[in-house]
Amino acid sequence: MTLLKLITATILTMALLSTTLIGQKPNGGNSDLAQKIARFAPTTLTADTSKLTPKDRQALDKIIAAAKLLDPLFLRQVWSGNDALEKKLLADKSAAGRERLHYFYINDGPWSRLDNNEPFVEGVPHEKPANANYYPDDMSKDEFNSWVQGLSETDKQKATGFFYLIRRGPDRKLTIVPYSEAYKEYLGPAAALLREAAALTTNVTLKDFLNKRAAAFASDDYYESDVAWMDLDSPIDVTIGPYETYEDELFSYKAAFESYVTLRDDAETAKLAKFSGHLQELENNLPIDPRYRNPKLGAASPIRVVNEVFGSGEGNSGVQTAAFNLPNDERVVKEKGSKRVMLKNVQDAKFNKTLIPISKVVLDPAEQSALAFDSFFTHILCHELMHGLGPHNIMVGGQETTVRKQLKELYSSIEEAKADMTGLWALQYMIDHGIIDKSMERTLYTTYLASMFRSVRFGITEAHGRGVAMQFNYLTDEGAIKFNEAKGTFSVDHAKIKAGVTKLTRDLLTLEAEGSYDKAKAILDKFAVIRPPMQQALDKLKDVPVDIEPMFPLAK
Ligand code: ZN
Repeated sequence: MTLLKLITATILTMALLSTTLIGQKPNGGNSDLAQKIARFAPTTLTADTSKLTPKDRQALDKIIAAAKLLDPLFLRQVWSGNDALEKKLLADKSAAGRERLHYFYINDGPWSRLDNNEPFVEGVPHEKPANANYYPDDMSKDEFNSWVQGLSETDKQKATGFFYLIRRGPDRKLTIVPYSEAYKEYLGPAAALLREAAALTTNVTLKDFLNKRAAAFASDDYYESDVAWMDLDSPIDVTIGPYETYEDELFSYKAAFESYVTLRDDAETAKLAKFSGHLQELENNLPIDPRYRNPKLGAASPIRVVNEVFGSGEGNSGVQTAAFNLPNDERVVKEKGSKRVMLKNVQDAKFNKTLIPISKVVLDPAEQSALAFDSFFTHILCHELMHGLGPHNIMVGGQETTVRKQLKELYSSIEEAKADMTGLWALQYMIDHGIIDKSMERTLYTTYLASMFRSVRFGITEAHGRGVAMQFNYLTDEGAIKFNEAKGTFSVDHAKIKAGVTKLTRDLLTLEAEGSYDKAKAILDKFAVIRPPMQQALDKLKDVPVDIEPMFPLAK
């Protein structure tokens, strides 16, 4: 599962969000629905196709055409009534009707995902069905569970598997329907388009993935194509198929279709390769007791940096995904590991449409010129790499154990904060050692300060927000973040920030090395709170968009 999707899931469960954060001001129209829509700032997402060969450029169009078919497919996965409702909404040509249709497409259904799934169309169920359209509307958990007990081992696997729907037969008994059959109308043409794209491209890894994924659409066996996806190394990077199970709120068994059609970002890929060459050096210099450093780091899991040119299905539903980890199939993960894909232009769009407006509210005017996307994104890259550094397998009381086991429910908040702080520390190390240009120092910390408000904006019940609130208050108490009481704004004390970051990095890495639940609890209890100055700043962010609504010119 992906961290950023998890954050998204938390956002979705926050019932108070719309009323407390959004307030009264409409950006688009006057209606309640227009205000809801205005939270998603329209944004063009595209990438430079000029370096693709002519054949690859044609292949890209075929892939986008295949990916488009997943939008109506996903709509049908979300709710059994979506098909009829879409037709009804399409027929209503009034301004209000067009608005409803617009928001229906943003949410892939009549429930507002940012507002705890509150319905925005008359005459639909008050609660978004937990069954989605993966199971019969009237099936209970108990009915499913007792039915599964009586199945053969093979059918049990299918019934609880990613790629099989549960339906009622003519006798009202539950039965298993494979995705390949249920969604033939979409998967058949999509497979044909992927094969046409495979015939066009000269990249062997892309050709292989597209052919194998096309075959999986008909066989419901995704293993070979997931393996091919792990090996994909191509200027066109494609993720297409049934993946995440969030939409199945009954059991989390069933996978939703989605696509991310992307182009590889060569500059960022080169930057990653450069950083990767320094990981052992960074580990050897971590600000902790040398006996806690790892003399030989294992292989890091691969990271791809790409720019999205089209997204569909669950990959373009509600809040936009900025990064994901796949595949989810445990067999593939065991053999090949998993891959992290970072959607750089999505991050860039969120930076422009949400972080810059946030900074105008929370930062001292003098600091606002020190905001830079390059610093923002490079820190996110480093954050990901730093998850691989520091203590993981540790000894506590003579026993081998892991940091995760020892810190229990506090682990995620501490580990995320560790990746944030060690990421800043590592960037400073690389600046000091000439690996990164010194100019980044001017923007790095201020950009991070603004991004902290973006992280805690959705609350501190979720691990990442909680870890960020802790960092914020810790650094404030070190004098590294200053509060301007008269203006209600914040700034970085550049004379103190490096020492503050190093000190917190040391504290977090040390408590991880010791596997100390008590120290983790103490630092979170003391610092992971929202103090009044931060609350006042957050209250002023009501009118800042929550996310983006992408427009894809290459899919026109
Ligand atoms: Zn992380």
